[in-house]
Amino acid sequence: MKIEILAIGDELLSGNTLNTNATFLSRELKKMGLRVDRHLVLSDEESALKEGLKEVLERSDLVIATGGLGPTEDDRTKRVVAKLFHLELEYHQDLAEMLFQKFEKNKYKKEQAFIPKGALILTNEIGTAPGFILEKDNKILVLLPGVPYEMEKMFFSSLKSYIKKKFDIKMKVFEELVAICLKKEDEIEPILENLRKRDRKVNIGIYPSLSGIKVSFTVEENDEKSANKRIEPLKKELEKAFAPYIFSSEGILDLPEAIKNIFIQKGKTLTLAESCTGGAISSTLTVLPNTSGYLLGSIVSYSNELKKNILHVPESILKEFGAVSPETATYMVKGIFDLTSADYALSVTGIAGPGGGSIKKPVGTVCFALGERGKKIDAGKVSIPGDREFIIKYSVSFALSLLWVRISHNLTHFTP
Ligand code: ATP
Ligand code: MG
Repeated sequence: MKIEILAIGDELLSGNTLNTNATFLSRELKKMGLRVDRHLVLSDEESALKEGLKEVLERSDLVIATGGLGPTEDDRTKRVVAKLFHLELEYHQDLAEMLFQKFEKNKYKKEQAFIPKGALILTNEIGTAPGFILEKDNKILVLLPGVPYEMEKMFFSSLKSYIKKKFDIKMKVFEELVAICLKKEDEIEPILENLRKRDRKVNIGIYPSLSGIKVSFTVEENDEKSANKRIEPLKKELEKAFAPYIFSSEGILDLPEAIKNIFIQKGKTLTLAESCTGGAISSTLTVLPNTSGYLLGSIVSYSNELKKNILHVPESILKEFGAVSPETATYMVKGIFDLTSADYALSVTGIAGPGGGSIKKPVGTVCFALGERGKKIDAGKVSIPGDREFIIKYSVSFALSLLWVRISHNLTHFTP
């Protein structure tokens, strides 16, 4: 069975609105064991819409479309679909009364009560545009409103059970994700190439992002046990190859959350000293509840004055090596250990740009230091390409990665 998700609206094509409806529907269908074959976005211009709808109905068995069901001039989905299926629009008195009562009586609400004849109506519990389903020649077209929360509500309250009843879902799609930090795609891919050869039926995908790389294992199976039997050996192999760098476990795929859990579990505390990130590492961590269980805080020592007066970075170090140097980063960590009771201290100092770079230290030069009380401080320099926003974001992610490999596997990054 081929499934396609269709998003309708010029605002999606123009880049004004992100197509989150398609993501939502794909994710929910996956949970039900259904794999979506294609996402398509169409303009709400009549001929483009007609062409597109024809096309999707030719190649797919189930099409779920969102958007353009409202009563405004640019909401053309309903009329185009009615024409395409050669159906008249039928006025539903009961639906109109309900809309008049719930909202107000006007021509727009009246318009919403016209539905293609023979369609199965899906009630909109929070908005005005009803959804509906048309079945013809073994094809199913579902029309849902564009507003995400109306669409989502409709999915859960009626569409999900309709799909469950309609399709005998024997084989389900099962997915496992592994999240890896500090490793590049090129380092992971060769291992995945081997794993793919071991079981062709398990689909292995690799998805890089700023906060690390996610590897997905998906397989179609009758039940979870059979799926696990296929996925687990491959997943274990990957975990063996990259053990210290893997921060996902039991559904947690988020580095800040993994860090919080391990710090709290080990009963250790952390303090940060941030220069170029301006508190961004701290704010990334404090978004999560119970961060106070391990994070003492962050000293945003943006200027040399604060580095000297609060963290006691010696003037001579700043003069000799500069504010952006592994040496300064190291003294920032020492400063934290003197000031606080933290078990771990992490510092970052860099040139986020656009100004401030030099030939020796171009924009994107960022230094990190990480120490565990009483042990040697691991410090070093990285070069981050990109603009100011990217450099800061990357620095946050990199700092958290350093923290993860250190606290989880006592691994240092810059020094042996
Ligand atoms: P309404 O009765 O509200 O007009 P509608 O079905 O006509 O419902 P649209 O007019 O197509 O919906 O979209 C309404 C709003 O919903 C859009 O302005 C946009 O903000 C949001 N929206 C529409 N489609 C999507 C989508 N695919 N992903 C995310 N948001 C969307
Ligand atoms: Mg609309």
